[in-house]
Amino acid sequence: MTGSCDHDHHHDDGPLERPDSPWAGGLALSPNHDARRAPVDILLMHYTGMPDGLAALRRLCDPNPPRVSAHYVVFEDGEIVQCVAEGRRAWHAGAGSWQGREDVNSRSIGIEIVNPGHEWGYRPFPEAQIAAVINLSRDILTRHAIAPTGILAHSDTAPGRKQDPGELFPWGRLADEGVGLWVSPAPLQPGPTYRRGEEGPPIQALQALLAMAGYGLTVTGVFDAATEAVVTAFQRHWRQARVDGIADASTLRTLRDLLAAR
Ligand SMILES: [Zn+2]
Repeated sequence: MTGSCDHDHHHDDGPLERPDSPWAGGLALSPNHDARRAPVDILLMHYTGMPDGLAALRRLCDPNPPRVSAHYVVFEDGEIVQCVAEGRRAWHAGAGSWQGREDVNSRSIGIEIVNPGHEWGYRPFPEAQIAAVINLSRDILTRHAIAPTGILAHSDTAPGRKQDPGELFPWGRLADEGVGLWVSPAPLQPGPTYRRGEEGPPIQALQALLAMAGYGLTVTGVFDAATEAVVTAFQRHWRQARVDGIADASTLRTLRDLLAAR
């Protein structure tokens, strides 16, 4: 599919002639990118969230609104296509923040992983696809100063809007191969739980810990909808056994372990 949606677009650095990564089998250049305004320190994982991978690729190359893109697309059979040069700012993250900084697009490389997603039939990521994501990620890490703490889910930077790549994404497997940070999730266990509607010093502490981890939320002491969204996002990434937005003992333990590991 090399060049299948190249709109003969030109930019300051000249069009990409070959993929930045040797793991990418071809180019399908998207016109949807602009100049970075910050150094790259995040690798952001997405799922495509569409019934069909090729349709997703077409959308990422579509010059009509809503204009979106990503640097790479990884298909379920492990094929990798590059859409935007790594030096350019692709349009995949949208509104969101990490560590108190917005414009996630400027500081990130975006990988779109083909999966129908929660809307169209979320399913496990095939082994060939995960192996391809790992190879590509390791290669990207040789070119950019991205710390293990900077390898994130889209849902981490936009908890109120996004669920991808979701609770089936094997973050532990990636970390085993040198991609990202992982701590073993604490087992589900009885203990205090905090949920939407509660308030007080323990909620304040929970919010402070989540903000310390990088999540964008305000420490108010009130377990509001935004806090619930962040707890849910945390679980999708770090404590996948139960994703319910309730801060139970396992969630709190895993959060503390994660912060201690950094
Ligand atoms: Zn996404």
